[in-house]
Amino acid sequence: MTTDLAPQASPVLLDALEQLGDAVDLLGLGEGVRQSLAQPRREVTVSIPLRRDDGSVEVLTGHRVQHNLTRGPAKGGVRFAADVTLDEVRALAMWMTWKCALVDVPYGGGKGGVRFDPARYSRAEVERVTRRYTSEIAPLIGPDRDIPAPDLGTDEQVMAWMMDTFSAGAGHTALGVVTGKPLSLGGSLGRQTATSRGVTHVAIDALASRGIAVAGSRAAVQGFGKVGRYTARFLAEAGARVVAVSDEHGAIHDGAGLDVPALEAHVDTTGSVVGFARSEPLQHGDDLLTLPVDLLVPAAVEAVIHDGNAHQVLARVVVEGANGPTTRQADAVLADRDVLVVPDILANAGGVVVSYFEWVQANQAFWWTEAEVEGRLAARMSAAWRRTNEVATSRGVTLRSAATCLAVGAVADAHRLRGLYP
Ligand code: GLU
Repeated sequence: MTTDLAPQASPVLLDALEQLGDAVDLLGLGEGVRQSLAQPRREVTVSIPLRRDDGSVEVLTGHRVQHNLTRGPAKGGVRFAADVTLDEVRALAMWMTWKCALVDVPYGGGKGGVRFDPARYSRAEVERVTRRYTSEIAPLIGPDRDIPAPDLGTDEQVMAWMMDTFSAGAGHTALGVVTGKPLSLGGSLGRQTATSRGVTHVAIDALASRGIAVAGSRAAVQGFGKVGRYTARFLAEAGARVVAVSDEHGAIHDGAGLDVPALEAHVDTTGSVVGFARSEPLQHGDDLLTLPVDLLVPAAVEAVIHDGNAHQVLARVVVEGANGPTTRQADAVLADRDVLVVPDILANAGGVVVSYFEWVQANQAFWWTEAEVEGRLAARMSAAWRRTNEVATSRGVTLRSAATCLAVGAVADAHRLRGLYP
């Protein structure tokens, strides 16, 4: 129904638009609201000429999309990946708007990306790409305008370079322009593990709603990066048996439960989960998605659960650590099969919640203790879970519909109160 707004849109953007359309229909909001929320408020595509270490010049492409600014400045990560497209960034920016509204942080939604694989470039080259990208999008970003953060392929160091580049242009240090910064440079305690903490909080609540205690449950985690690694750690600490994990190199399995601290040490030395001594390799990385587990956490990239494998997902609960890991068709299949899917905009919102805490601390130049950060994060995540679960139950809809309705409702309300200018 929403395809008319973007007939050429890529599958990931179509999924995002159709989720929006469903929520607008369920809430009984009008076509004008649907159209306003379907279009990004602003977007820019920039070219990034990069001098390679060998002296040659290569021109990369970057984007920054501000989907919505109604509840506050745009907020969302920057991803460096070889397959970044403008449509993907648009979808991710829209999901950031819903995520921020759902957990009630005073932001709109944005996202950025540069189309290149940072692993194939030297660190000095990645720094030059980061700095040029930042200076190209500088007119759009700022502590009150749009606040980038890490995402796939970016990290604390990239955020430090972004902050430095923006500050050099502004003529003063602007700590609040990005979040996910190193601790020694205006970062927040607990930010690095925040997304995984949040994933673990809602995973425990979601399992409990199905009568499953986390202690002794079996979990599989796809991805061992910023989200998957700490999720595996926290789930194991909560007593779950983490029976399988994967990264871009492969997947490993141990029915008795992997020794996660030993696995983390293995990854630190070898760079991959593959070859971990106390485990069996899985033949294909995707086999992890169809293991007989209680909990599946896709924490890598989009569209990994699709109509081709959704019928084989045996997990009772899927908690989306990644953004958009389940396609719309797969979502319907999982709902039919009574698999509980905790949607990305709820499940992985812990990252942006602590980004918000980091921004508040940076703007006030007053730093909180780790216990304050963790306590406030836990309170927000469980409140968001409760609200979403209540709406899902009372309306008889999926958690994704409930979460999207809550978020779209909050943004639509803010639009209505602000009115239309002129
Ligand atoms: N990239 C993360 C996300 O998708 C974090 C965004 C942020 O902290 O602004 O939620």
